[in-house]
Amino acid sequence: MANPKCVALIAHDLKKDDMAAFAKANEAVLAGWKVVATGTTGGRVQEACPSLDVIRLKSGPLGGDQQIGAMIATGDVHMLIFFIDPLSAMPHDVDVKALTRLATVYDIPMALNRATAEQLIDFNHP
Ligand code: PGA
Repeated sequence: MANPKCVALIAHDLKKDDMAAFAKANEAVLAGWKVVATGTTGGRVQEACPSLDVIRLKSGPLGGDQQIGAMIATGDVHMLIFFIDPLSAMPHDVDVKALTRLATVYDIPMALNRATAEQLIDFNHP
């Protein structure tokens, strides 16, 4: 596929095992997407899914969330799967909020937990 749709994957630290397991379980479906991810999440996903070509941006707290927000604004990210940790304080909480805000502004499918992500990935084939 010349221009596959792009999905962005992000997971907070306590959710990274979950994201790696989610990606592995859905590796065949994700192969139909262009996959971008924040730095550390992308490393975990790449390790779990050797067949994917994961594009790794900066780590979330160092600007990765904002990079993905910018890609949503320019129409380069079409779906967001973001496993958030609602029980930990984040130094980059404002970036998290800005990102979920932009996903809402641009009305792209967005999953903030695994249960929703499983539904979205099944439903939104590129
Ligand atoms: P990370 O960023 O994948 O580089 O850990 C995720 C985040 O925003 O915390």
